[in-house]
Amino acid sequence: MSICVGVLALQGDFEKHEAMLERLGIAHRQVRKVADLEAVDALILPGGESTTIGRLMARYGLDCAIRQRAEAGMPLYGTCAGMILLAKEIVGSQQDQLGLMDITVLRNAFGSQIDSFEAPLPFKPFGEEPVTAVFIRAPIVQSVGEGVEVLSTFEDKIVAVQQGNLLATAFHPELTDDTRIHEYFVGLARKSK
Ligand code: GLN
Repeated sequence: MSICVGVLALQGDFEKHEAMLERLGIAHRQVRKVADLEAVDALILPGGESTTIGRLMARYGLDCAIRQRAEAGMPLYGTCAGMILLAKEIVGSQQDQLGLMDITVLRNAFGSQIDSFEAPLPFKPFGEEPVTAVFIRAPIVQSVGEGVEVLSTFEDKIVAVQQGNLLATAFHPELTDDTRIHEYFVGLARKSK
């Protein structure tokens, strides 16, 4: 079954996600306006600046349109800023967001001293084989609601979660050579079609 994965292309590292999908041979397209959304079966929210992406989504009416599709079962995958946008609660912030996932996130949670780093991390669906997690001014998940599955932790901090059709990582698999998390997401998209 052929599917098309959308990549929200308002700001941030959307091209890296497109390159990942290209490597996997998955049809993909940039989503910049509501009409683009109609052609996709799933959507990736890239890393970048969550306040900017949230503001632009609201300006183009994409926030409502994405919420509707997500509630109808469309899979969404948010990396870093994308995770922040998916959260129902952002500590200390009233910024524009999608507010779909029962998680509370804390932005820039590793402090200004540690801007970016990488670490091998287990990712629950993959068992023993760790992924290389690249963190860049990353958030953490402070708390999760019922129905949210924790997929990865780093030093007891929650950094990857799934709630049904919604997947989020505080780190950036699109910046590595490891395609498995994107494949995992494509699997969710196939199942939902
Ligand atoms: N710190 C950024 C934010 O709060 C996220 C950083 C990223 O996506 N790499 O939006």
